[in-house]
Amino acid sequence: MCGIVGYVGNESALDVILSGLKRLEYRGYDSSGVALVNGNMFIEKRVGKISNLEDHLAGKNLGGFHVGIGHTRWATHGVPSDINAHPHTGCHERIAIVHNGIIENYAAIKKMLIDKGHIFSSETDSEVIAHLIEYYIENNSFLDAVLKALAKLEGTYGILAISESEPDTIIAARKGSPLLLGIADDAMILASDASAIIEYTRKVVYLEDGEIIEVKKDKMKTFDLERRRIDKKVEDITWDISDIEKQGFEHFMLKEIFEQPETIQNAYRGRIVIDEGLVRLDGITLSRQDINDVRRVILIACGTSFHAALVGEYLIEEFARIPVEVEYASEFRYRRPILLRGDLIVVISQSGETADTLAALREARDRGANVVGITNVVGSTIARECNAGGVYLHAGPEIGVASTKAFTSQIVVLYLLGIFLARRKGMTADEAGALLRELTKIPDKVQWILDRADAVKEVAELYKDTANCLYLGRGINFPVALEGALKLKEISYVHAEGYPAAEMKHGPIALIDENMPAVFAAPFWDEVYAKVVHNMQEVKARSGKIICIATEGDQEILKHADHVLRIPNIGKMLSPLLSVIPLQLLSYYVAVLRGCNVDQPRNLAKSVTVE
Ligand code: GLU
Repeated sequence: MCGIVGYVGNESALDVILSGLKRLEYRGYDSSGVALVNGNMFIEKRVGKISNLEDHLAGKNLGGFHVGIGHTRWATHGVPSDINAHPHTGCHERIAIVHNGIIENYAAIKKMLIDKGHIFSSETDSEVIAHLIEYYIENNSFLDAVLKALAKLEGTYGILAISESEPDTIIAARKGSPLLLGIADDAMILASDASAIIEYTRKVVYLEDGEIIEVKKDKMKTFDLERRRIDKKVEDITWDISDIEKQGFEHFMLKEIFEQPETIQNAYRGRIVIDEGLVRLDGITLSRQDINDVRRVILIACGTSFHAALVGEYLIEEFARIPVEVEYASEFRYRRPILLRGDLIVVISQSGETADTLAALREARDRGANVVGITNVVGSTIARECNAGGVYLHAGPEIGVASTKAFTSQIVVLYLLGIFLARRKGMTADEAGALLRELTKIPDKVQWILDRADAVKEVAELYKDTANCLYLGRGINFPVALEGALKLKEISYVHAEGYPAAEMKHGPIALIDENMPAVFAAPFWDEVYAKVVHNMQEVKARSGKIICIATEGDQEILKHADHVLRIPNIGKMLSPLLSVIPLQLLSYYVAVLRGCNVDQPRNLAKSVTVE
């Protein structure tokens, strides 16, 4: 998920790698490291900033190394620490690898290798790659050993490997994590992101999934995983560094909105077995008995995570038929909450550092409750302090202050948690399998919406000068209305309110006139849909303007709404994952048109570490 740089040439490999890693710092990371090879191997890796790594390299004479690999890690398996930082080696420091991504079957591979006498030093999934190569290299060339290792891996990877046995070579492979090769005069630079390369060359080869490349300073050979040669095209990079950091998007927020087909998949990847209706949440350390005994779930969060929790309430109650309460973290701890046996507390925070949520966690834990965390940042304080483990989002660093991709990943994890609990409460494997199969359709459907982002932009242009906006939804789409309103407030400073649609007539209807747009989330046909349409008529009767998120093919809605933003058809329980996307885009475009600082809105911080 984070950064990779490799160098083969005549310069000091360390200098090129460090400057490349610094170019990747904007992506966020928790530790960094390098491995250099000539006849010997040199490795240094440290938790924290690259400057900390540099402090530990200072005074060492490493200019004679011309081949090396480096990494900035964003932990997924194992806390950020010196030992878990990359590069990783086998039992001996003769092979070193750096890895981006997640090896889903690492536990099985690790066990197999431990049985063969391998000794592991880190908690990462990545370390198995180095041990596998070490295992195969005894009877194979470096390239064949890497190929054999890759054949064992399930999951995603961008990998660079070096070996003392072939000190003039880097082998790189890709599946699901980006990797490219820059071709300079007398040198080759590999990186996960072009910004690390552009200083040296604009001639690049993009690796595709399922390709492996053997790189020396003046030549390279590309193969598929069956070892068949592939001819690669050398392309020119035509954009500049600021474009690359945001991958061509104008803001991190927009980039993160567009990442959602992938981040949603990352949240369930490796955790579901559809045919068996199985959800594996291995990070949760509760015993089978504890899970059977759950009588009530209390979801605790702040801000956008709170809205995800509200969606979670619908999901868990519907699937597991366990009562769920949702609490603002800041409120929970100060009102002497009543905790009972059989309560399961779930705290939700993107950063894992939210002070209010942390305080609520401690309160619940100190009073003997089981607390599970849902966070994006591995090794964060909340992740460490939960006494019943947790589930990571695997969404990659979220840099835009207004949360987008973390929200949808949180909903996916809560969907999984709902099914996980439901299976203990009588849901059959077939029922669970059907729900999981629906989930796997979401990434393509999100992509469908993103492909139509221009329609949202057109609506944003019409309403960019509005001073107020009402967001309305019912049932599981009520929290989506809240989240839509929050997004607009956060980044465009337009006053927005979210309400359950039927509540409108109990007060907010007084606000409606020809200047008040109302955004409805009405994405499916059922008894609530008819009622939402009724609420629209109430708005219309008072000359209000209606923007509606509606399902593809729904013609009826055209009679009521002034503007319709389409989402693909999906069952009710997953609809928030789709209906929120146009709302994220709407707030984004309105903010841009109003000239606001989208990635760093005024008065807000990414990780709220004060109460
Ligand atoms: N899964 C690996 C780890 O936790 C790689 C993380 C990354 O992509 O930075 O170490």
